[in-house]
Amino acid sequence: MAERIGWIGLGIMGKPMAANLLRAGYELTVHSRSRGPVEELTQMGARAADSPREVADGSEVIITMLPDSPDVSQAVAGENGVLEGAPSGSLLIDMSTISPVVARELAEAARGRGVGMLDAPVSGGDVGARQATLSIMAGGSAEDFARAEPIFKVLGKTITHVGSSGAGQVVKACNQIVVALTIEAVSEALVLGSKAGVDPEVIIKVLSGGMASNRVMEMRGRNFLEHDFTPGFKVDLHHKDLGIALAAGGEYGVSLPVTAIVGQMLHALRTRGMGAQDHSALLTLIEDWAQHTVGGRD
Ligand code: NAD
Repeated sequence: MAERIGWIGLGIMGKPMAANLLRAGYELTVHSRSRGPVEELTQMGARAADSPREVADGSEVIITMLPDSPDVSQAVAGENGVLEGAPSGSLLIDMSTISPVVARELAEAARGRGVGMLDAPVSGGDVGARQATLSIMAGGSAEDFARAEPIFKVLGKTITHVGSSGAGQVVKACNQIVVALTIEAVSEALVLGSKAGVDPEVIIKVLSGGMASNRVMEMRGRNFLEHDFTPGFKVDLHHKDLGIALAAGGEYGVSLPVTAIVGQMLHALRTRGMGAQDHSALLTLIEDWAQHTVGGRD
């Protein structure tokens, strides 16, 4: 029989992922800070709970999809948190992107209560969440991974057990470095090419046919060309993720010079009040410095 699932965090990612589990026939109890998405999910057949503790009580598998490390720590180990309600033998899966160190600490606290834990962050964005094509990278024991696999298969396409607790978050940090630096590189290329008088759409088309092709241009090409920065993935969250990568670099003695620069650029966007916009808005910084709008005449 399918396991009863508790879901905490119904944002851009969590809401469509939870909806996919409901459509697949799973029994779901949900909780989130904002009421709107909770109501949408209850209309689809989910049960609403008032706290993470209430979600955990009566669920066999509990999934969190929250913004940052403090949110997950609070929801899991805080007052009225998951660990106060989770029955022994249940499995906690954190699919948020958080610090690998915090992921390991929470897994240890869960183990102390007889609860298994996987860190299983995702890539593939809001589109992947809606279309159930996410890439899922999980850290934890082989037994817990095997138990979670049927659920992962409903949510994603590429599902990989990458190592012990925290390893999922390490791989996700690697992913976020590559995505951020690619957005920055594409932004520089488009501003240079456009200011030099070439149609930016042509630049994307030509680059997409050679070694410079990448998923950022494929998934965000239209955003760059139309200056549509509706999230997607928020600047605030990518800034948080590069902070995680830089902290991991500090811990393991790895210098990440360009990650640090792009982190500072995202910081500048937040200072401009653009933290809730899509990370492709990084383009606007390069445009400002060049005094040129991609696709414009100046
Ligand atoms: P979001 O801000 O859209 O959603 C977060 C949700 O959590 C919101 O609904 C908020 O109300 C809820 N929430 C926050 N704190 C809470 C708490 N203490 N208790 C209950 N609910 C709480 O963020 P998102 O884009 O859905 O991202 C979620 C996680 O997934 C982040 O860690 C992010 O880095 C990661 N992620 C996002 C994307 C993306 O493209 N958006 C892609 C991959 C990974």
